[in-house]
Amino acid sequence: MKSYRKELWFDTTQRRQLINITPDVSSCIIESGIKEGLVLVNAMHITASVFINDDESGLHRDYEKWLEKLAPEKPHSQYDHNGFEDNADAHMKRQIMGREVVCAITKGELDFGPWEQIFYGEFDGKRRKRVLVKIIGE
Ligand code: ZN
Repeated sequence: MKSYRKELWFDTTQRRQLINITPDVSSCIIESGIKEGLVLVNAMHITASVFINDDESGLHRDYEKWLEKLAPEKPHSQYDHNGFEDNADAHMKRQIMGREVVCAITKGELDFGPWEQIFYGEFDGKRRKRVLVKIIGE
């Protein structure tokens, strides 16, 4: 069995941002040389997510509204966590959107349904953060 590890770095300009990282993950699969196996993609921070859904801008605006209803950023003082930080909402948004995805690799490619895309969801951005890509297989 072969294994492969890589960190992808992101430096977002906004506090909240969704980035389609499917091409980055596909590049990792090619670089790994693995044709049959599994790829794990996880955020390495507790205020960011990795998830799979549609790359459709309306849906992404809907996520922003929905997450802001569930865990509004402001007022910062509404959260006990925000003593020295202001990111309690980001911890909660990440919990809802998830930490990681695991995808099948078949014939050297992501074995996806027609609209599946992998996203990095940043909820406390404007600083460098990373995603881990781990691939195992043959
Ligand atoms: Zn925090």
